[in-house]
Amino acid sequence: MILSDFFVRPVDANDREWIARLITERWGAEFIVAHHQVYHCGNLPGFVAVRGQERAGLLTYKIVGDECEVVSLDSLEPCGGIGTGLMDAVRAAALKSKCKRLWLVTTNDNMNALRFYQKRGFTLVKVNRNAIESARKLKPVPLIGSDGIPLQDEIELEMTLDGASEQSRRPDTAVVERRRDVFKYCPSCGKADISFAGLKELRCRSCSFTYFHNVATAVAAILELDGRIVLIRRGREPGKGKLDLPGGFAEPQEKAEEAIKREVMEELKLDLKAVEYLGSWPNVYEYEGVVYQTCDLYFHSKIDALPTDCDKEEVAELLVMAPAEVPFDQIAFQSTRMFLPRFIAAWPGQRAL
Ligand SMILES: [Zn+2]
Repeated sequence: MILSDFFVRPVDANDREWIARLITERWGAEFIVAHHQVYHCGNLPGFVAVRGQERAGLLTYKIVGDECEVVSLDSLEPCGGIGTGLMDAVRAAALKSKCKRLWLVTTNDNMNALRFYQKRGFTLVKVNRNAIESARKLKPVPLIGSDGIPLQDEIELEMTLDGASEQSRRPDTAVVERRRDVFKYCPSCGKADISFAGLKELRCRSCSFTYFHNVATAVAAILELDGRIVLIRRGREPGKGKLDLPGGFAEPQEKAEEAIKREVMEELKLDLKAVEYLGSWPNVYEYEGVVYQTCDLYFHSKIDALPTDCDKEEVAELLVMAPAEVPFDQIAFQSTRMFLPRFIAAWPGQRAL
């Protein structure tokens, strides 16, 4: 995941006027027509990306049964990660609602959209021939679209949400590019003749030195207090100001069970007696320009009382939330945005964890 200086929040009543203006401006009418249906985006649930004081993007969606359709996605600042942030948010919302499928339609001329969605794990599943004709009956739609391509068909794309695959394992091209900016010279001979093979292997063509930037082990704790979950607001980058679970990186020669106890002691001054391993999820963690691929291991532990003291630099705020109230879109890291909703969904009877 790429952290940026914007955040994503659900649409609220104050956004309605802005949404109406935005949709009219960008979609040629106050409504959207897709697969012969009319959508009034102002009445749909959605997410707004906010940078500084300004709204910088909008996504609206509709859930029917166990399917979630992305109805509109508008980023007002292309290439800033806003589209990705909004898609992360809707996927988390779809998972929370136990959807099995995330889908959308775009037009046959929209190469940007086809590129964007396919890079994020969507696959093409259907062409609705001449579907744009029904939109033309309701609003002006040009005959020729982007790049001089006749605008006539809808292309349907989907992402399945069950199973543990998904895009977190996909090479992130932006991450690969940034890594090239950081690693410039061979650590052995000092020449600038290095290249990356895959996501972790750095090779020097001059001296044949190979360095493996291996996956790092990280740990996170789901602390249960009276059936609620302890979350922290991060006091540091990456993800400063966003929500997280207590945790951190394992030290050399340290067991993961010891690492989670040490991290919780350091951050929350809590002495965990028993921890139970729950599962794992891959993550991408960027610190001072260096990108670390991690495998985050999740543990559960019950606590009796909220910590009275904590590491103020690491933890800006301590929160305790009912599982249904956890705002997944405000969580800093993709691994936890993926793992926590699954864990909560599997939680029997909304009782104890
Ligand atoms: Zn070398």
